[in-house]
Amino acid sequence: MAVAWLDDVRSADIDHVGGKAASLGELTAAGLPVPAGFVVTAGTYREFIEDAGIDEELFAAVDVDHEDTEALREAHERAHELIMETPVPDDVREGIVSAYRDLGDGERFVAVRSSATAEDLPDASFAGQQETFLNVQEDALVDRVKECWASLFSQRAIYYRNRQGFPHDAVDIAVVVQEMVPAEKSGVLFTSHPSTGESQIIIEAAWGLGEAVVSGSVSPDNYVIDRESGEVETITVADKKVMMEKDEETGETVEREVPEEKRSKRVLEDEEIDELVELGERVEDHYGTPQDVEWAVYDGDVYMLQSRPITTISDADDDERETAVAGTNGGGSDGPEVDSSNSGDVLFRGLGSSPGIASGKARIITKLDHLDQVGDGDIIVTEMTMPDMVPAMKRASGIVTDEGGMTSHAAIISRELGVPAVVGTGSATRELEDGQQITIDGDKGTVREGAEPEEEQHEPIEEARPKTPVKPMTATEVKVNVSIPEAAERAAATGADGVGLLRIEHMVLSLGQTPSKFIAENGERAYVDELVDGIQTAAEEFYPRPVRVRTLDAPTDEFRQLEGGDDEPKEHNPMLGYRGIRRSLDNPDLFEHELEAFRRIYEMGYDNVEVMFPLVNDAEDVSRARELMRRAGVDPEKREWGVMVETPASALEVESMAKEGIDFVSFGTNDLTQYTLAVDRNNERVADRFDELHPAVLKLIGDTIETCRELDVKTSICGQAASKPRMVQFLVEKGVSSVSANIDAVRDVQHEAKRIEQRLILDSVR
Ligand code: PEP
Ligand code: MG
Repeated sequence: MAVAWLDDVRSADIDHVGGKAASLGELTAAGLPVPAGFVVTAGTYREFIEDAGIDEELFAAVDVDHEDTEALREAHERAHELIMETPVPDDVREGIVSAYRDLGDGERFVAVRSSATAEDLPDASFAGQQETFLNVQEDALVDRVKECWASLFSQRAIYYRNRQGFPHDAVDIAVVVQEMVPAEKSGVLFTSHPSTGESQIIIEAAWGLGEAVVSGSVSPDNYVIDRESGEVETITVADKKVMMEKDEETGETVEREVPEEKRSKRVLEDEEIDELVELGERVEDHYGTPQDVEWAVYDGDVYMLQSRPITTISDADDDERETAVAGTNGGGSDGPEVDSSNSGDVLFRGLGSSPGIASGKARIITKLDHLDQVGDGDIIVTEMTMPDMVPAMKRASGIVTDEGGMTSHAAIISRELGVPAVVGTGSATRELEDGQQITIDGDKGTVREGAEPEEEQHEPIEEARPKTPVKPMTATEVKVNVSIPEAAERAAATGADGVGLLRIEHMVLSLGQTPSKFIAENGERAYVDELVDGIQTAAEEFYPRPVRVRTLDAPTDEFRQLEGGDDEPKEHNPMLGYRGIRRSLDNPDLFEHELEAFRRIYEMGYDNVEVMFPLVNDAEDVSRARELMRRAGVDPEKREWGVMVETPASALEVESMAKEGIDFVSFGTNDLTQYTLAVDRNNERVADRFDELHPAVLKLIGDTIETCRELDVKTSICGQAASKPRMVQFLVEKGVSSVSANIDAVRDVQHEAKRIEQRLILDSVR
């Protein structure tokens, strides 16, 4: 039998039907209202490849070096071609079609979803790698099932299994074919509070199909019900601007505006709440653990679409949380402070730019060829860090620089690597002796004589992992910044909602050559490969959480340090010069390679990647960049894309920029502050004037958020100031959509955002 009915499937069948179908079968058996459907079993897929004799060729085709992006692409194409071009045996085709005809009136729209049999691989991101097709009917059904089979060999899936050393022939795939519910309302239901585990049922509800709630594109109504008394404790009715619906003409799922009269109307009637609560109780009873349930209402009936255990509830007690919160300071101090530690004299001070204490031998680095001298545990002391220093920075236990501020290369990279750093000391390379034992404090910004007693071993990834698994649930998304792909794992360990800024330039700078030089020596393909590799590392680590990748923005003085840098223009003030989108628009041939990297990344299946253009000034910059993107094969209608707001001009021109179709803006407060206040961000002499909370900067930001909210453009911040509690407070009050902080500040920012959100809710009801 090619298919099994959901009615007959149980959790013990997981090896034959995959995790998704097994769970739907269980719920059906428990008498819960699950839309009718059947599964094309994993055995059917296996027989298909074995009987046709394509199995060996298939597995051989995907046995490639997964770091070789070209080989990966070819492997995917060959596997896809093998599956799609091999005919399905007549009896299997008939089995699938006749099961479809038995569903309802035989003309129903169905959802066709992959249900892989090895979703218990070590990394949860494996789940969801395969295809789903909505609104399918008989004519396309068998082809869609084959597409699901072929999606077992997407570039992402091959890459993932090879990297994990997981054999390709150990994974099978089943396909669920299930009636679509043309939902009038839908949402999710948590049978216990998802972060505290309290005995409350939380329901989120919006108009139309559930995709809008699950993807987060609409703010749903929120209903909190006390499970003991059954009473509805709070109802928060949201302003629901958009909804997802099936387009009657094309059958596709489209986003539409919610009719005016329904926007601020409550979605759920009292009886529907009662019914959902009862269903929630039954599901939790059935599984014996708190569940996260997707539901839909159609024609007065409630349906359950999926149920998963809630994994975010913690057993940790509050004391642990308090300690964890008190132990960090939100991303470094803003200036020198009195040092209360009892060891060693303070030799001098700078800006504490990456938190933590480190002791070691000072290694004075004056030229790049001295980098080999940096041993494990040494402290790099240098005028200013250079991109080539990243490998040495990884070996070092700390970093001290003469120059630079909180947003300098040294500060950004050391924060991402989790290495304590003190920058902008003015004189460290002159005041310290090579080999001298010192202790630096990256919170307080001090450099002291002598060694601190041996600390516990430094584990950058473990340190980034929150000490408590309770992730504060915030309506404002809290994301993280990444500049070097090597930091992606550490960044993902924070539990952030995605990457708000991935800077391409650090990938380019670490090539050690300018892009033109690198291309001249290695070819265009090699350059694009480097970018694809770097982006893929982060996109994979975070999948399916979004990763916002910014096109190149390196000032000429940074490029000049690289091989080939002699050809860089000499500029009096590189910060006001040839950088960001203005340089890319001026040199479209080079820019095209970056855009080609995005095209390939999408082709590989990384639909979580977003494109962001830096240092735009106005609508003309935006429309020119968009057209180049379109020409390079990246469809602006299909992909999330947007711009940085880093100049006062871009803040003042946001309305006309929005008309160019951007999905989001992100405040680059490092630049916005420097250009608004005329303070060079890298000049330590004026570092005390660098104030991101200056009223002029806040006015530009506040007004931009207001305009963007009217125009439905999302807003975010990815400058260093996103890690400052006062900035978070200001932004959340103004209604920013997301905040992207440094790795070390993510957890504090989550708590801060939650606190402000709760206060706003309280204020509104008092
Ligand atoms: C900014 O300007 O705030 C920003 C995030 O970009 P960068 O620091 O890379 O200039
Ligand atoms: Mg910037």
